[in-house]
Amino acid sequence: MRYPVNEIFETLQGEGRFTGLPAIFVRLQGCPVGCSWCDTKHTWEQQPQDERPLGDILVKTAASSCWAWATPEAMLATFAERGFNAKLVVITGGEPCMFDLVPLCEALHGAGYSTQIETSGTFEIKVPKETVITLSPKVGMKGGYAILDSALERADDIKHPVARERDIEELDALLARCGEKPVYLQPVSQGKRATELCIKTCIERNWRLSVQLHKYLGIE
Ligand code: SF4
Repeated sequence: MRYPVNEIFETLQGEGRFTGLPAIFVRLQGCPVGCSWCDTKHTWEQQPQDERPLGDILVKTAASSCWAWATPEAMLATFAERGFNAKLVVITGGEPCMFDLVPLCEALHGAGYSTQIETSGTFEIKVPKETVITLSPKVGMKGGYAILDSALERADDIKHPVARERDIEELDALLARCGEKPVYLQPVSQGKRATELCIKTCIERNWRLSVQLHKYLGIE
């Protein structure tokens, strides 16, 4: 099994339940969901002319649409070569659940890593049971994808992007489909009104705030 990789890097997880924990990020290429405020639009297309050797992807210094095929073994070799210390691997995108992630997660678990997937919930989630699923539902985006019941059920927590009241109402409708889950509200683009709304709602509902710590710290 091989996967299209946009980038691999080590940093601190800036969002959700593992905020502050060192993590290796594997960003896969490809996403048809079409969120207008997406901060990784360069991962949307998997264009043949943008394919590169894996070595080129690992030395990228800026966001780009270049990507490389990589097997789980090649990823593990990369972690070792680059001297990564983190024991959590976050598989993100793009939309990582476009791919069967079982072989990748099993290889990572076999090498002593734990895994977390960040997904929009619009594709069936194929992972081992140990993998932590953070579902960040993207409702009503231009790609026209619906949030799947199977994804809601599998999710270990919900990290919901919030810009306005309507986003809270959409979240309530999703939670009515899957029952209680740990919820993290995340203000879109660090906006002041969005942040105030998230703080108010978290206190009212006993939910948690996720502020994209890496953006405040100015790290990747
Ligand atoms: S699902 Fe994620 S990667 Fe895809 S468009 Fe939305 S924010 Fe961007």
